[in-house]
Amino acid sequence: MSFEYAPAPESRAITNIKPKYGHFIGGKFVAGSKHFPTINPATEEILSQIALAGKSDVDAAVKAARKAYNSTWSKMPGKERGKYLFRIARILQERAREFAVLETLDNGKPIRESRDTDIPLAAAHFFYHAGWADKLEYAGLGSSPKPLGVAGQIIPWNFPLLMLAWKVAPALATGNTVVLKPAESTSLTALLFAEVCQQAELPAGVVNIVTGDGSTGALIVNHPGIDKIAFTGSTEVGKIIARSVAPTKKSVTLELGGKGANIVFEDAAIDETVEGIIDGIFFNQGHVCCAGSRLLLQENIAEEVLHKLKKRMEKIRVGDPMDKNTDVGAINSKEQLAKIVELAKVGDAEGGQRWSPACELPKKGYWFAPTIFTGVTSAHRIAREEIFGPVLSVLTFRTPQEAIEKANNTPFGLSAGIWGEKGSRTLWAAQQLRAGVIWTNSFNKFDPTSPFGGYKESGWGREGGRHGLAAYLKSVSNEKGVM
Ligand code: ADP
Repeated sequence: MSFEYAPAPESRAITNIKPKYGHFIGGKFVAGSKHFPTINPATEEILSQIALAGKSDVDAAVKAARKAYNSTWSKMPGKERGKYLFRIARILQERAREFAVLETLDNGKPIRESRDTDIPLAAAHFFYHAGWADKLEYAGLGSSPKPLGVAGQIIPWNFPLLMLAWKVAPALATGNTVVLKPAESTSLTALLFAEVCQQAELPAGVVNIVTGDGSTGALIVNHPGIDKIAFTGSTEVGKIIARSVAPTKKSVTLELGGKGANIVFEDAAIDETVEGIIDGIFFNQGHVCCAGSRLLLQENIAEEVLHKLKKRMEKIRVGDPMDKNTDVGAINSKEQLAKIVELAKVGDAEGGQRWSPACELPKKGYWFAPTIFTGVTSAHRIAREEIFGPVLSVLTFRTPQEAIEKANNTPFGLSAGIWGEKGSRTLWAAQQLRAGVIWTNSFNKFDPTSPFGGYKESGWGREGGRHGLAAYLKSVSNEKGVM
């Protein structure tokens, strides 16, 4: 018997999107001068007009952050700061549905993911860091670690609220104040977060949010009143930022691109592994810096894994992100879609064999079907460059040593996955892999207690856990910040 598919759409009634937004500076919303549209990438509907911050807006935000730092926040006892973080965490939980709906409308990611991953994890980051605020002297970072000052924070569009939480929560817990800029295509949840700061009665100027594009980001990076830059985004922009701050006293953390290897040994439990491969590359449309975008299969099981993977991919539901049953939503922007299409064409031209399940893509909006390329070698561009979309490159290997060599043959080093029964080989492989985060018999698992960051071109420093605190503190032994 076959059943008709019945859609289960989430309602957008809970959100109240204003026609136009300004910046959040010194605890108040202030009007912007120039604006640009933010759209729903699943429908191309214009959701609102976002302000483009120029020099005077960034100056005002830095001034407000400095004032709050000097007058209240850096002087406040940790246990008092912690109360504000707990309050923010609880408000995020109370307003979780509103945030999830807004995130999905603005970003294109499935509501199932914004509801079950992005927003709960964002709240978890505030809860976790709230707990640290009055215990910093026990973090192993010196007997009385001090904040750095004003942090400039620039975040990408793939996990908008979650990346905000990764940046704001540790900065505030350690006594820093912030000027944050969300990505130009996904500013709405950051602006709703500004309302949460008001609701939590956070002292004015502790969090300032300016919206805009790369030009606004560059103004933050180059501002002399900023002590620390925290950036998540492309390796290309990360390099520009590294060059800009090199001659200054600013400390910096960079969380950049990746080309994660997901290694499957012959004794892996195949059905579970297939779920992990799917999660590794198709979660959030593959817009994940730590995505498992290179699948390395041991040759003797490659055929079986690929057969099961294709069968599983036929069941992936691509479409309306607001439908609670959707697995893969819209590509975040026209520009990103163009990049994915371009690199997939390169994959064809290099001789990779492209396969996608039959799936009908919506007529409006930006879409790309889940895709795998087999017959890929380490020399192919689709095995070396970050595609940042739902495209998996499949390579094979014969021996564990060969798997490690192939996995490490990349300019990046953010994540890796190891699938197999044998614990000693897993531990051996984890020691050989040059990647900041390694999952075993799982993939894309995140927790605020666990540090996240990369080797090589994947970035500098760690975010999350005790290591992440170090990036916002100066210890006695290192005046410039621990990172
Ligand atoms: P992606 O390629 O994933 O869009 P980007 O690195 O371009 O990633 O963007 C990440 C963030 O960096 C965004 O908030 C963007 O506005 C900002 N940004 C872009 N260019 C610059 C720059 N030159 N200096 C500072 N920030 C920038």
